[in-house]
Amino acid sequence: MHAPNHPPHDVDALLAAFDGEQLMADLETLGAIGRERGGGLQRMAYSEADLAARRWVLAQMQALGMGATLDAAGNVVGYLPGSEARPALALGSHTDSVPGGGMFDGALGVLAALACVRTLRGQGVKLRHPLLLLDFAAEEATTAASPLGSLSFTGHLTADALDGPAWHGGSTNELLAARGFDSAALIANHPPLPLAAFVELHIEQGDQLLAPRTPIGVVEGIVGIRRYYVTFEGQANHAGTTSMARRRDALVAAAPFITTVRDVAVAHGIVGTIGRIDVQPGAPNVIPGRVVLDVEIRDMANSTLDRAEAALHDAAAASGAQMVHGHRKEPTPADPQLMAAIQRACARLDLPRRTLPSGAGHDAMNLAAICPYAMIFVPSEGGVSHAPDEFTPAAECIAGGRVLLATLLDLDERL
Ligand SMILES: [Zn+2]
Repeated sequence: MHAPNHPPHDVDALLAAFDGEQLMADLETLGAIGRERGGGLQRMAYSEADLAARRWVLAQMQALGMGATLDAAGNVVGYLPGSEARPALALGSHTDSVPGGGMFDGALGVLAALACVRTLRGQGVKLRHPLLLLDFAAEEATTAASPLGSLSFTGHLTADALDGPAWHGGSTNELLAARGFDSAALIANHPPLPLAAFVELHIEQGDQLLAPRTPIGVVEGIVGIRRYYVTFEGQANHAGTTSMARRRDALVAAAPFITTVRDVAVAHGIVGTIGRIDVQPGAPNVIPGRVVLDVEIRDMANSTLDRAEAALHDAAAASGAQMVHGHRKEPTPADPQLMAAIQRACARLDLPRRTLPSGAGHDAMNLAAICPYAMIFVPSEGGVSHAPDEFTPAAECIAGGRVLLATLLDLDERL
């Protein structure tokens, strides 16, 4: 399994040396950068606070003796050489936030990876594989083409993707230029070396690990997303003079379909949402003449999404609506070998775990285009995220960090 000149890692000794207190202290320090008084984080992509946070992470990597640079997209890329010429193992996540975000989303995965390197350095242990520690820029959907940093890192960013709007009101191209980034360089970006695997620790942001409380989630994949525009035609007319009997109100026609989306989702065991309703002409004194519903469904299984989609088509046709297909993202399954490594890590640490899909997108889904990936989840108190009261207890943050370390050591021996 490993070359004779490389004895197996003393995993238990390394796990015992993992400094959980320092991890929590780092989370507090990073969580203070860009925090509003009494409120959430304002570390939107390429804001001053976001760049300050990324420079802080860079300095921490350098202090641990890693080679660390900002790449063309502003991703922090830390490097630790391995003892053999092999593709790299990579750990990481992101440190940007949504407006008013929490201090665990993304930051935990970056700082736990940093804690893994601190453990290796402190114990004088060298991995067989080179190690990349990645703090991706612009993961949250505050720019076009999100997650933008990991898309650039993997070499899959396209020029037209940067035309879309960013959180500051202008285009993403303008935001990048204002911060001294070169869009052409982002598009030409690529990984510094081939990757053997990417593992991301992240808060769950849902409620699947809460009942029963389970400290570790082993992510089976990131769900597929399908969006539809469902249009109901009526007749716009005067809201005061048109009798109820003579109305063709498009919003009234659309109303039953709203609960149908919920019912179809429940019946198929998936999630379904209408996140936007466009009512035209959209005035209080005019009967709606046309209504467009933005419908979204998500699940890991395309076969289930196919059946739910067919049910939605039937319901739309029955109510005389037009259903048009919009954005579609395929499910991104995690790598079974890497999932098995996480399972072994949990068994070694005697930690209960369950397998679950990720309903949210993550940098890992972009990394999946260039290497096998897996994700480790820890519980989000109350299922809350993207909010100031996002919280994961220290014991579970540290448990997640130890699982990440044990997984890394396992993969270093097996891959
Ligand atoms: Zn995140």
